[in-house]
Amino acid sequence: MNPVPAPSEGTPAGRQRLSIPPGRLIVLSGPSGVGKDTVLQELFRIAPWLHYSISYTTRPPRPGEVDGVAYSFVDDARFQALRDDHELLEYASVHGHWYGTAEARVRESLERGEDIVLKIDVQGAAWIRPRVAGAVFIFLLPPSPEELRRRLTERATESAGSLALRWENARTELADQGSYDYRVVNDDVLRAAREILDIIERDRPRAGHP
Ligand code: ADP
Ligand code: 5GP
Repeated sequence: MNPVPAPSEGTPAGRQRLSIPPGRLIVLSGPSGVGKDTVLQELFRIAPWLHYSISYTTRPPRPGEVDGVAYSFVDDARFQALRDDHELLEYASVHGHWYGTAEARVRESLERGEDIVLKIDVQGAAWIRPRVAGAVFIFLLPPSPEELRRRLTERATESAGSLALRWENARTELADQGSYDYRVVNDDVLRAAREILDIIERDRPRAGHP
């Protein structure tokens, strides 16, 4: 079967070939509790054409988290196999668990011309930065450290130990914000989502001008 018609006959002279730019990688980072998931949910509501990269993680699911939606939840052995089989675009140990991006899912999405959002930590972003041309790097900031602490605590999803670790790691994450192309303050969920969408649209390369 050859679904692609031969271009020689029947092609009007002078017709330009369509130049469809491939999709782009949009990387979102920020400290735990800043509101990444909340803002992304709003972003996908106002821009349903954007895609999301569902990561693998060895973290146990929180109540209400569905396998294959928030994450693909796997055990340590499966994660190691994914890593050894080079199925991960990047991976890192974050707050005591493994997290990694499924390379095939991302590649297929980009090849289809889709813009795909990765919610990954600063280590993963640092790995991707020199390797993926044209990716957009956005860092989500809290309005203040006090507000970050309040959000992290009030979400009430973490044990005391995990909460302390996430709070401690926030300092390292925040110290890396200067490596990002854009910084967005999550003061208001809809406003922050709109700002991210503006960045994505503004930063879009024109067809033929990557
Ligand atoms: P992250 O994905 O970055 O870990 P979440 O999206 O889970 O963070 O948000 C952490 C908590 O903060 C949640 O309880 C969420 O409802 C709350 N939150 C998120 N954004 C805002 C905001 N702009 N104002 C007030 N609370 C917020
Ligand atoms: P959580 O356990 O709160 O869902 O996620 C903790 C952190 O893990 C997130 O803040 C995010 O930065 C990071 N993370 C999630 N998925 C990935 C991934 O695939 N790769 C990397 N490097 N980090 C991830």
